[in-house]
Amino acid sequence: MSGRLAGRAALITGGAGGLGRAMGAMFLHEGASVLLTDIDEASVGEVASMLGEEYGAKVAQCHHDVTDEAGWRKAVAQAEQIFGRLDILVNNAGIVFTGNVEETEPDDWRRMMNINLDSVYLGCRTALPVMRKYSPGSIINISSVSGLIAGYNTAAYNAAKAGVWLLTKSVALQVARDNSGIRVNSIHPAFVDTPMLRDVMGGEGAEPLSEDEQHKFARQIPLKRIGTPDDVAYAAVYLASEESAFMTGAEIRLDGGLTAQ
Ligand code: NAD
Repeated sequence: MSGRLAGRAALITGGAGGLGRAMGAMFLHEGASVLLTDIDEASVGEVASMLGEEYGAKVAQCHHDVTDEAGWRKAVAQAEQIFGRLDILVNNAGIVFTGNVEETEPDDWRRMMNINLDSVYLGCRTALPVMRKYSPGSIINISSVSGLIAGYNTAAYNAAKAGVWLLTKSVALQVARDNSGIRVNSIHPAFVDTPMLRDVMGGEGAEPLSEDEQHKFARQIPLKRIGTPDDVAYAAVYLASEESAFMTGAEIRLDGGLTAQ
């Protein structure tokens, strides 16, 4: 099936990363126009020009630090200016590092909150006034299974992703009151083979995980495999499209059964 997002315009943060580029590619395949934003300007430029070979002017990119309020205003304005509308926001950019609460330095704690949680607050409040003009629409916040269950050495990541989970519900309830038809939902992936997971393993971001490394994660998952970026992109297309018109303030657990146990 294609054309499920025909005529829609999306802004995806962290567009140079593993999940961002997969969602961008699938949104384009389904007929949307997509602005990919990232703090890594060179990489997001490469991703956009690669996708541009197939989708032409339907894909654009810009440098965007999601912790920067002015940067948010610029990115949202740019999406509206290029595509004439903004219907879908995917708050996807994020970082991860490990450390228990005593090991985590205050500066690192604040950096985690800034990039993984404050950015979602800034994104929602900046995009909503613009999205309302073109409603209905959809905001998709990429949280994590780590926002639902904790680990002893992921204090800051757990706290930030749990914040995204409940912030999503608060924004969903607020927006439901204005009858705009804008929905706000979160996606909670478990391990997906992207540069982020490769960093956690201490590997080179560009190299896919080895079979041994994959197995290390997969054995924790009832479905006995790790996720693919497309697993996440399929869920994002559903949430972005009007197929999910009755879904708001909800979470999709893309975790192979991990949190069902
Ligand atoms: P990734 O490292 O491949 O991509 C993250 C992207 O975010 C990078 O391109 C990076 O440049 C960008 N970014 C970092 N800081 C930024 C900032 N301040 N402003 C703008 N962009 C910034 O990681 P990914 O796996 O694609 O992760 C995407 C999202 O999915 C993250 O929020 C992550 O926490 C979440 N997630 C990932 C997994 C996984 O296993 N890969 C699991 C659960 C949740």
